[in-house]
Amino acid sequence: MVLAQLGGSISRALQQMSNATIIDEKVLNECLNEITRALLQADVQFKLVRDMTTNIKKIVNLEDLAAGHNKRRIIQQAVFNELCKILDPGKPSFTLKKGKPSVVMFVGLQGSGKTTTCTKYAYHHQKKGWKPALVCADTFRAGAFDQLKQNATKAKIPFYGRHVLSESIRLNLYTESDPVKIAVDGVETFKKENCDLIIVDTSGRHKQEAALFEEMRQVSEATKPDLVIFVMDSSIGQAAFDQAQAFRQSVAVGAVIVTKMDGHAKGGGALSAVAATKSPVIFIGTGEHMDEFEVFDVKPFVSRLLG
Ligand code: GDP
Repeated sequence: MVLAQLGGSISRALQQMSNATIIDEKVLNECLNEITRALLQADVQFKLVRDMTTNIKKIVNLEDLAAGHNKRRIIQQAVFNELCKILDPGKPSFTLKKGKPSVVMFVGLQGSGKTTTCTKYAYHHQKKGWKPALVCADTFRAGAFDQLKQNATKAKIPFYGRHVLSESIRLNLYTESDPVKIAVDGVETFKKENCDLIIVDTSGRHKQEAALFEEMRQVSEATKPDLVIFVMDSSIGQAAFDQAQAFRQSVAVGAVIVTKMDGHAKGGGALSAVAATKSPVIFIGTGEHMDEFEVFDVKPFVSRLLG
């Protein structure tokens, strides 16, 4: 994972600073420059990096620090805290309650890993005693329903959806092609069946486009989700901020899941997505399989990152 490289570079910068005989402004600036370089290389948005180093300089005012203070520790702690701050928007995500139906809507671009993540999320909660159900409101991508159906069947999770129109014509099936209607029908069906976690998978497109955002807005308005989760491929790099912000402008994103953290992604996009949506990362995807899914906690993550 390239994130390990980022952690390695930051740790090295801190170590070099620690090794200096005297820690003066020059040593601190060199250390912060190294950290800036490492974060930019990992695709963290420039503004976030600049704000972070400004904050660290404010906290670590060398002239004000009394002679007896351990400057090394103060700098290290400031770097740790600032990294945590970027990843922690300061408000927790919505908490699901067992036995009470919650609707969770997933949004994200096509290929981000949204459908896979819906099942992982359902499976994770099923193991913890929830009664999840999956609704496929993706009527745009041919095969989306079959993919969800296949995943859901494997995990023994109930599902609801329809083939997209072109497939239905080919298969000579009558079908409903309005994603809003499918989403609403699916949610109603599973509420009647006393499912307490109803997950709505939505369409994605290859790129951010007005029709997609309008559809997300309509599905959200009709199903009134308790939580909207933005799914982001960790390899999208510097595009993360704009993409996350675009989704947040059409639906009330309340949490982020970053996928493909097992790949060669630089991972910095996760930090940008948090900043853009002001929502926490709640899980990360670490592989294609159902159980390759981890709860995301900021402090252990940053500790691990810094080694
Ligand atoms: P969607 O178009 O957003 O619904 O994306 P899919 O769920 O179909 O996923 C696109 C591809 O990414 C599939 O080949 C998935 O198996 C793969 N994928 C999803 N999540 C992960 C992950 O965390 N790690 C890896 N390596 N692959 C993933």
